[in-house]
Amino acid sequence: MPELSLIEEAERLGQALVPVAEGGTPGRVNRELALALGASGMFDRIFKEEGVAAVDLCRIRQGLARVCTEAETALAVQGLGGSPIHLNATSAVRERWMPLLRSGEAVAAFALTEPGAGSDVANLALEAVPDGDGYRLNGEKRYISNAPEADVATVFARTTPDAGARGVTAFVVPIDTGGISPMHLDMLSPHPLGGWVFDGAFVPSDHVLGEIDQGFRVAMQTLDMFRPSVGAFALGMAEAALRIAVEHAATREAFGSPISEFQGVSHQLADVRTAIEASGHLVYSAAAAYDSGKDETLTGKAAMAKVHATETAQHAVDVAIQVLGARGLESDSTLAHLYKEVRAPRIYEGTSEIQRNIIAREMFRQRI
Ligand SMILES: Cc1cc2nc3c(=O)[nH]c(=O)nc-3n(C[C@H](O)[C@H](O)[C@H](O)COP(=O)(O)OP(=O)(O)OC[C@H]3O[C@@H](n4cnc5c(N)ncnc54)[C@H](O)[C@@H]3O)c2cc1C
Repeated sequence: MPELSLIEEAERLGQALVPVAEGGTPGRVNRELALALGASGMFDRIFKEEGVAAVDLCRIRQGLARVCTEAETALAVQGLGGSPIHLNATSAVRERWMPLLRSGEAVAAFALTEPGAGSDVANLALEAVPDGDGYRLNGEKRYISNAPEADVATVFARTTPDAGARGVTAFVVPIDTGGISPMHLDMLSPHPLGGWVFDGAFVPSDHVLGEIDQGFRVAMQTLDMFRPSVGAFALGMAEAALRIAVEHAATREAFGSPISEFQGVSHQLADVRTAIEASGHLVYSAAAAYDSGKDETLTGKAAMAKVHATETAQHAVDVAIQVLGARGLESDSTLAHLYKEVRAPRIYEGTSEIQRNIIAREMFRQRI
């Protein structure tokens, strides 16, 4: 039997995890799912000693997204929150958290966004004030995946006032630290999301990630690694929607023939198929640029991959629902589930508008 590709391996795993995902509460961290992902070895793959290859991260996310978006999101957020710890923490802090994050016994979060700082994240206000051998955190993080239930978070805080991106430091914050209050948010999608209010929460100095005032580097290192793979998540969802639509169009009859024979149906699906193929090329080209470590076009490519793949996925799900007619809107159908899931990736890790700003900036900078 030929060896499975990593995409197929992740897809099979996702299939096996569907019952575990369905056993969770929508919008809440599913601990069983985190443990199952840990037991499968997938967290070990994303927390490799030298960091995960972006191409592999994309393959895993695409494969999981084809069949189990909850497993995909659990894996991605664990990676987002855990990678800064894995790559930047002191050895004592790494040794405390990484075994728990690899096994899924602990769940991580990546806390950058605040009520007053989303796209304009360099404007973040949560302050970290020196106090003895550490810092006291005051402020709020909101719209954070896996919050408020996560066990540990990478938290970005202001250490130098009025210094924009140059005055931000990254911290590892165990969430059982005193002075942290939880806040849960219900979203349209089943995505676990919330925030925390920090009221003098103490973080020791050895919980700083990287250098003081250099936290933006940590944030960008992580987001650069993950941005193409948001596209891969979208790609997997788009493929799932198209599969359902093609199967339906080939078998559903109206006016005496399969609806696939109506050009109004088949051309819509042909366009989606083409856009998915293009997204795939963009996503894996951006991931390869990241992995090469020296591709100057990475920033623009990653932005193109994210905006194209996430907007294609939105369109793919919409077309698939149209092709299925009323069936596509049954609330327990896969397409209804995808309809809710597909919206958020156009907003998080940089909105579509911000991606277009980046593409335009890079285009004019390089005159291409
Ligand atoms: C499901 C979900 C999960 C999330 N998970 C996390 C997480 O784990 N960690 C985390 O830190 N954050 C997370 N976020 C937050 C997310 O990153 C922010 O929502 C995002 O960066 C946008 O910020 P905002 O919502 O404040 O919108 P705003 O920044 O207020 O933007 C509002 C609108 O204005 C547009 N806009 C803003 N500036 C410009 C500009 N310069 N040019 C053109 N248009 C512009 C935006 O594109 C958008 O359409 C998550 C969000 C969602 C929905």
